[in-house]
Amino acid sequence: GVIRGINSRNGWDRRWYETMRMPIIQNRYSNRKTVSIKFNKPLPKSLTTSLSLNTENFQPPGEKYAWEYLSSFVVDRSEAYLSNISNPSKSKKSCSRISVYLSWGNISSKQCYQYIKYHPKFDQNKRNFNGFLTRLKWRCHFMQKFEDECEYETRCINRGYELLERERNQEFITNWMRGKTGFPMIDASIRSVVASGWLNFRMRAMLVSFFCHHLDQDWRDGANFLAKQFLDYEPGIHFPQFQMQAGTTGINTIRIYNPVKQSQDHDKEGVFIKEWIPELESCPVDSIHEPWKYYSSTDFFQDIKPQLAYHKPIIDHKIGASNARKKIWGHRSNDLVKLEKQRILDKHTRSNKLRMKT
Ligand SMILES: Cc1cc2nc3c(=O)[nH]c(=O)nc-3n(C[C@H](O)[C@H](O)[C@H](O)COP(=O)(O)OP(=O)(O)OC[C@H]3O[C@@H](n4cnc5c(N)ncnc54)[C@H](O)[C@@H]3O)c2cc1C
Repeated sequence: GVIRGINSRNGWDRRWYETMRMPIIQNRYSNRKTVSIKFNKPLPKSLTTSLSLNTENFQPPGEKYAWEYLSSFVVDRSEAYLSNISNPSKSKKSCSRISVYLSWGNISSKQCYQYIKYHPKFDQNKRNFNGFLTRLKWRCHFMQKFEDECEYETRCINRGYELLERERNQEFITNWMRGKTGFPMIDASIRSVVASGWLNFRMRAMLVSFFCHHLDQDWRDGANFLAKQFLDYEPGIHFPQFQMQAGTTGINTIRIYNPVKQSQDHDKEGVFIKEWIPELESCPVDSIHEPWKYYSSTDFFQDIKPQLAYHKPIIDHKIGASNARKKIWGHRSNDLVKLEKQRILDKHTRSNKLRMKT
């Protein structure tokens, strides 16, 4: 679904559907002749050690599992696909989890498209399956952006945003990477993705928003760190998505996710938070989203028992959000940002009319 060397997105959606509906290519190869490869250079010890950590939380690799995940999604996991998609715990089961296999090439978008679209269960669960197929198209849509302009990886795609100054704060960066910001939903999300290699879309977007907006850090520091954590890492999705959430495109609405509200809305009972933050195990549910309020008068945050202490918030998130809003929206009127905006619209987007339905 991704096309080499195009100058405009006109007709892209139509071609995507045509490609998805084309016959699946049958590989015809024989494995009668095996070629043994002598590999004399063992991997460095540090790499083998890090690869062996956490594997019990990772999705198992290979084509066989790709089909198992896809078929279990269709048969019994997709009932609440769209309604649970933003819930960090429930989405682990109700999302397809096919991203890992797509990224590693164990299965193709076309195979997924045809399996779902022509499945006998399609009509019984049309809304959820159409939601899935739309996202498959997003996958190629973002990868097409990267194909057309791979600088997404290294510089603000809207060059005007390179002019926006940010002061590097190593302490903020380290706390975010270690899941020690003092905001339960941020910390649980980071710890979860480090341990399992997967996180739902909303929490990925929230992590970026917190890093780039509330903490006011350069998106590149966060993007490279998360790229190393995702088992489904695909640069074609990762960098354009990261920049969209970081507000450096100049064409998208800037979303600043309130980390407390996200946690109240999508983890009301604190199930996800308690799973990943043992320090909050005994925290009552009605205080789990803002533990600093509940514990402000106790020694909870003191270092008396460091292993049990949860961090105080490293910033005031309301002030952080307000500063970010002023800074980023204010910069939208910069001449270079405006010039670049038009270039990006011409190169990477198509009008709503041209986005055909499945
Ligand atoms: C900052 C950020 C970085 C991301 N990096 C990656 C990445 O490196 N690799 C990756 O596969 N996805 C990435 N995503 C998109 C999305 O979060 C994952 O594709 C999704 O969570 C994977 O889970 P799933 O397979 O269960 O998705 P499902 O909801 O079951 O969706 C089915 C498929 O559609 C595609 N898809 C779903 N959502 C999106 C989306 N928003 N944009 C593009 N394609 C989508 C994926 O291929 C996914 O496997 C990123 C999102 C953000 C906000």
